[in-house]
Amino acid sequence: MNVNDFNKEDYWRTIILYGLNQATYKIALGQSLIRFSQEQKNFVSMNELAEDFFDMYKERLKNGKPQLATPNRQTAMERIVNSFNIGKLSRSQAIEKVEREAFNDVIDRFHTVDSLKMPVSFYEKTDKGLVIFDKVFDIFSDRKNIELQNELNARWDLLESAFEIKRTNSELVNDIRKLYLVNGYERTDITKNRSVLNGYQNNVCFYCGEIMVDDDVHVDHVIPRQLINHDDIWNLVLSHGFCNLQKSDNLPDKHYIVKLIERNEYFIKSNHPISNKLKAQLGNTPKQRRVTVDNIYEHAKLVLSPWKGIHGYNPVSDPFYKTFIRNLLIYK
Ligand SMILES: [Zn+2]
Repeated sequence: MNVNDFNKEDYWRTIILYGLNQATYKIALGQSLIRFSQEQKNFVSMNELAEDFFDMYKERLKNGKPQLATPNRQTAMERIVNSFNIGKLSRSQAIEKVEREAFNDVIDRFHTVDSLKMPVSFYEKTDKGLVIFDKVFDIFSDRKNIELQNELNARWDLLESAFEIKRTNSELVNDIRKLYLVNGYERTDITKNRSVLNGYQNNVCFYCGEIMVDDDVHVDHVIPRQLINHDDIWNLVLSHGFCNLQKSDNLPDKHYIVKLIERNEYFIKSNHPISNKLKAQLGNTPKQRRVTVDNIYEHAKLVLSPWKGIHGYNPVSDPFYKTFIRNLLIYK
């Protein structure tokens, strides 16, 4: 199958359903194109399009949901509709503002999906407006159009929910960061813990299980210091410099946390001189200590990116891989 065998509907779906959408504009433009093609229009002025956008968002925004991925920010459409709703703009002023500020980006980029330009166009932009090509009529002139319209609406709902979740999380994330910042302290010299930690690790790297040589031993915060802002020994381990760099400021998988908890219990059971310190930091009973660490880990999961570990390379999270697969799907 090559590019020419794709039908217009496939391209339409690719444009609407794929790609990392940072806002809902593309969906709105899709809706406008369907509407205009149903009216058999092959030209719309920018002002007509702006009016359509304005009416569409005025209705849509009654649901109170965000239209932009970035928390604490709004799309131009949200600002304009809000200004209209509180009487700061008249209807014609609002529509003019939409024409000037709101949709030029999406008109230029509608046919691009994750930096891939689709080999078809549904319209052409001119100085005066959009020339809508016959292709769109082909798609929407039959009963198909209801289905594709529903698809657009479903996609719009989905984007709004995704943006909403991001928003709730971002407040939570700020609260968590603040909590650890308040309870944290300035960096100390963590290398002084090396020999104590090695009593448990015996020159074996905490993350990969291989032997370490003297000049390549790092003291590492299992839950990154970037979040917790302390150097408490319960969270410190020894690792290869290489493994430490791989992990960076990411959060290791749960099995490393289980191992960390076991390590701390080992120190306490063996009455090691640091056992009192560990009890003071985490709690007096094994259960209390586990709950303390688990809670911190749950917080960290909300804030930090995950790290699968040295042996667990996960291609699904690799952006290059994702783009590669998407290209294959589109152009196979
Ligand atoms: Zn290692």
